[in-house]
Order: sequence, then C-alpha cells, then structure tokens
Amino acid sequence: MNELTESQVKELWTRIREELAELEQLLDSSGESSKPVALDEPIGRLSRMDAMQQQQMAVAGRQAHLQRLQLLKNALAAMEREEYGCCRRCEEPIGYKRLKVRPEAPFCLDCQSHSEGGN
Ligand SMILES: [Zn+2]
Repeated sequence: MNELTESQVKELWTRIREELAELEQLLDSSGESSKPVALDEPIGRLSRMDAMQQQQMAVAGRQAHLQRLQLLKNALAAMEREEYGCCRRCEEPIGYKRLKVRPEAPFCLDCQSHSEGGN
C-alpha cells in the first residue's frame, strides 16, 4: 500500500497530466530535427558532420523524452489500479517527497540507486 493521501494523489495526477502534455508538444516539435540527414544533400563534409551530430543529439533528446513519456503513462496507469506510489521492486511506499520531484518515479530511492548505480 502507498502512504499518499487522496489529495496528494490528485495533485500528482495533475502534475503528470501537465508534464505529459508538455512532453507531447516537445516531441511534436522535435520530430523534424530528428529526421535522418539526407546524405546526398550538397553540403560540405564539415557541415554534414555538424548536421549529423546535431541530429544525433536530437535523437538522444527525443529518446529521453519518449522514455519519460512512457514512465508518466505508467504512473497514470498505476493510479488507475490504485498502485501508484509503491515501489515496483520492493513494494515499499516511494514517498510523497520523492514523487513531488519525480511524479513518474516507479522505484523508491533505494531501488533506483541500485538499478542506476548511484544517483
Ligand atoms: Zn524499492
């Protein structure tokens, strides 16, 4: 069981919905820049490398956004099942303090630091 009150869950639900909307907008607008660089474009070698580097950064950023989007969606689903706020590894409460900072967090701080090797 989690230790969150109903109003805390409501507050976090609102935050998650807001962040989801923001991320979806971000992903929409970054869709263009993460398209592969057309190699037959008549640009110089250096600027092509530049473009490819920029594209790689855009792809990496997009992947991070997609990952976060998935976590946020998982958190919403967990709320529907009334499982939100419990660590998915040890099933201990994640805690409101941590959820306030990362409402999408699926693990408690202990388990998170185990899986990420620090942080
Ligand atoms: Zn845990």
